[in-house]
Amino acid sequence: MHTNRVQKFGLFLGAAGFSIFVLAWTGVITGAHTLFLWLSFSLMAAGILINTYGLYGGHTRGIKNNHVWFNTLTGRGLLGWVSGIVLTLFYIQLYWFADSLSGLISMFDPLSYLLTGGKASQWFLYGTVYTFLIFFLGIKFIYKYRHNRYQVIRTISVIIFQVLFAYAIPHILEAFNDYQGYFGKDLKQIWPLNYYITESYQLDAMSQNGVSGTFYFFWGLILFLIVTPVFTYFYGKRWYCSWVCGCGGLAETAGDSFRQLSSKTRSSWQIERWVVHSVMVFVLLMTVASLWPYFSGKDYKLSFITITTPMFFYSMIFLLVLSAIGGGLLYWKRRHPLLLVGTIILLLIAGALSFGYFGGVKDIFSVNSRSIKKVYGFLVGSAFAGVIGVGFYPLLGNRVWCRFGCPMAGYMGIIQRFKSKFRITTNGAQCISCGNCSTYCEQGIDVRAYAQKGENIVRASCVGCGVCSAVCPRGVLKLENGPEEGRFDSNPLLITKDGVKLNS
Ligand code: SF4
Ligand code: SF4
Repeated sequence: MHTNRVQKFGLFLGAAGFSIFVLAWTGVITGAHTLFLWLSFSLMAAGILINTYGLYGGHTRGIKNNHVWFNTLTGRGLLGWVSGIVLTLFYIQLYWFADSLSGLISMFDPLSYLLTGGKASQWFLYGTVYTFLIFFLGIKFIYKYRHNRYQVIRTISVIIFQVLFAYAIPHILEAFNDYQGYFGKDLKQIWPLNYYITESYQLDAMSQNGVSGTFYFFWGLILFLIVTPVFTYFYGKRWYCSWVCGCGGLAETAGDSFRQLSSKTRSSWQIERWVVHSVMVFVLLMTVASLWPYFSGKDYKLSFITITTPMFFYSMIFLLVLSAIGGGLLYWKRRHPLLLVGTIILLLIAGALSFGYFGGVKDIFSVNSRSIKKVYGFLVGSAFAGVIGVGFYPLLGNRVWCRFGCPMAGYMGIIQRFKSKFRITTNGAQCISCGNCSTYCEQGIDVRAYAQKGENIVRASCVGCGVCSAVCPRGVLKLENGPEEGRFDSNPLLITKDGVKLNS
């Protein structure tokens, strides 16, 4: 692929900025941190912006994905593999060998002192780089998709949520407050994506921090119990996955060049369903298993309410049984095995909790909750979400975590699939079967197969990124929120190469 001079200049600046990171990482740079930090970020920012202009400026309207399969980075070539390996090694260091990053971490001290009043940690380094990438590669994304209003607005939204709610506000709050639980780190995190809320030290922090601690406690509950189901019912899971979430934000911006690498095979769809729902069940079991020993046999005091053991027990039973009834009713209507399995699991958990309450047992699943958390934290929280989820962007596509691992996506996916107004409608008669939509679906959905049949796309995994619609040359696909009636009904007419048939 031809790289023009503007692009080359941008790449040169970006590489120069990144090399400062490498020099700090390897211990060559040990002082003048403020200078080097700003120099590296400025060079990388300028590099991204100039490269973006060289790549997409001066072209005709429309989204350009030319040569993605022939590019060594985006077509799983040598550079793709090298990048995947380097990213993976970085994540391994970040999670398990943070000491080896100490040179790079100290380069972030000046910024950390400015924002939080303390020294930088590996998570401050990570959060800063993460936010930087979403911001500047978000600008690149907006410029690339500038002719599509939906893409522009949702990307601005993702940038604002990351910069303000996940980065600036929590860090500034940290400078003024004692540690107040996990919301002190990211106000838009929601259980089950962020399972840390079940940690006893997080609950202790909320209990010990008066009104603000109480606010964080109820903020978490409201996000999970009210905001998530209501918004997903009205808008599908896109409201979070494509407009708010930081993982989704990084996937859409830094990972945009790799979206075509997601597997579209039927077997990967099957693996996806098994894995994502297993992770969900795992989180639910882990949460109940760790909350019960914490709340049983003692009162939990917040600033204007005390949660006693019976209060906790009956609230949990109410939620579990209510969800099971909802699942059962939906199963009655849709006859989908997933709903039946989910309903049974919820009832079994309610039974185990009752056994714990009436039998005075703390480890209700006969497993120590700490060991379950350790396994989950290692396998899912670190290895899956970080190492594979981002490290494998250049190899498996940009939404590996969202598609196969994220329990929040699993939770919203069930609502989106069975009780939501969201769907992608298809005007099959206009489809020319070019396959652009399927190619660029980061969730591995074979969009074209639906479009050819004129069938609505109602899939649990769709994150509503809208890229299938944006790249369609015929305007076939439309993301819509409408009445539930007729949402699953296929187009009565099937348009095939042999003519129009009744879709029986
Ligand atoms: S089907 Fe379309 S909107 Fe849904 S995830 Fe795929 S590309 Fe995005
Ligand atoms: S991009 Fe549009 S025209 Fe091409 S296969 Fe998909 S729906 Fe059909």
